[in-house]
Amino acid sequence: MMKPTKSMGGMKVPADWPKAVTLKCQKCGATQEAPMHCGLPMAIKKVDGKDMLTCWMGPGCGKAEVPKHHDMPMTMA
Ligand SMILES: [Zn+2]
Ligand SMILES: [Zn+2]
Repeated sequence: MMKPTKSMGGMKVPADWPKAVTLKCQKCGATQEAPMHCGLPMAIKKVDGKDMLTCWMGPGCGKAEVPKHHDMPMTMA
């Protein structure tokens, strides 16, 4: 029998998933918090070769366009 893992919905949060995600404008430096999904902030990951905000459970659970500022996609600070 497998040891129960401390996680939500039976899925384990990736060890390298950030606890807080701040998105930053590459041009003016403005910042904003990334939206939350399933209890953790969404992070920028490549989905089909495109940078997307994704849920830690994967893009199948939640994904969103990376917010833009000054017509440039924001990056993780
Ligand atoms: Zn900006
Ligand atoms: Zn989710």
